[in-house]
Amino acid sequence: MKILVINSGSSSIKYKLFGMPAQKLQVKGAIEHIGEPRSKIKDHYTGLKEILQRSSSVHVVGHRVVHGAEEFRKPVVINNAVIAKIRQAAALAPLHNPANLVGILAAKKLLPGVKQVAVFDTAFHQSIPEYAYIYGLPYKYYTNYGIRKYGFHGTSHHYVAHEAASRLKKPLSRLKIITCHLGNGCSITAIDKGRSVDTSMGFTPLEGLIMGTRCGDIDPALVTYLMRKFKMSTHQIDDLLNKKSGLKGISGISNDMRVLQKRYNRNKRVRLAIDIFAYRARKYIASYIGIMDGADAIVFTAGIGEHQGSIRSRIWRRGGYSYLKKKPKVMVIPTDEELMIARQTYELVK
Ligand code: AMP
Repeated sequence: MKILVINSGSSSIKYKLFGMPAQKLQVKGAIEHIGEPRSKIKDHYTGLKEILQRSSSVHVVGHRVVHGAEEFRKPVVINNAVIAKIRQAAALAPLHNPANLVGILAAKKLLPGVKQVAVFDTAFHQSIPEYAYIYGLPYKYYTNYGIRKYGFHGTSHHYVAHEAASRLKKPLSRLKIITCHLGNGCSITAIDKGRSVDTSMGFTPLEGLIMGTRCGDIDPALVTYLMRKFKMSTHQIDDLLNKKSGLKGISGISNDMRVLQKRYNRNKRVRLAIDIFAYRARKYIASYIGIMDGADAIVFTAGIGEHQGSIRSRIWRRGGYSYLKKKPKVMVIPTDEELMIARQTYELVK
């Protein structure tokens, strides 16, 4: 069975075609600059048409969808009701869900009769218990408006946890794993017996760790303080916290860890940015060891997690965790969200 996995963004479509159940990658690529003035690709429909010419005989399509709200705990076959719910969840992910939907609608039009499956970034975290996902706000903000922790990068955390279990030759259902997805966006998840029990991102992907350009955890009162002091609009606050903060904001140089790492010994603010990044990650890992009463493995993945050994060792420090009776095994596992989407799509439709 040939499964085409699509990750449709606002101006790009990334894709991989897998032969299942062998999990053989057959074609992969990306169409970028969709709809931009000098691009030949005017819209997602044209982009997808080109992708289908490169990928022969697609049997099923698996779509990455960022936000499934509380509606979707698992992947689903897409029908009109599912489309309506993804549209509803766009209120919670205004930058992502509409772009994911455009990809779904284009695929439906171009491949009538071919099953389409939605795999949600938030779904894996739906197992987080209520005491960990409710914020300390009046409860009605949760019941009336869905304000709670959702968590993101779920497909990546789920995938690397599975791989870790298979490398450890133990069932996932008997392991406590802490997965660290450290890329431009960063999140850490506590996975107890295969279920996400807490994760560092929250209602949006802004909460938690220091990221490339996002600030992660801050005192929420800072927002109103900044608005009052500098007469900042909500748009300016959004821009400050999401695009001008994190590694980039602290270092004043770059959001790219490769660039920063080279200057660690030469630039005080770069050193500070990296030290804060590692400290925050270490703090989350320690708190997740605390809530799970230990960890069998700590897994690093994504750009920084996979490739930057010196950052990994700043986080877990060789010889660290001396307070634990049994030390976790530290592992590096490349993530493959598309393969996880193909696997889940296959399981659903086979
Ligand atoms: P991602 O969002 O997963 O693409 O990760 C982006 C971050 O990972 C950036 O901070 C990069 O500096 C870092 N990164 C990505 N690829 C590499 C690599 N091959 N070697 C070192 N760092 C990398």
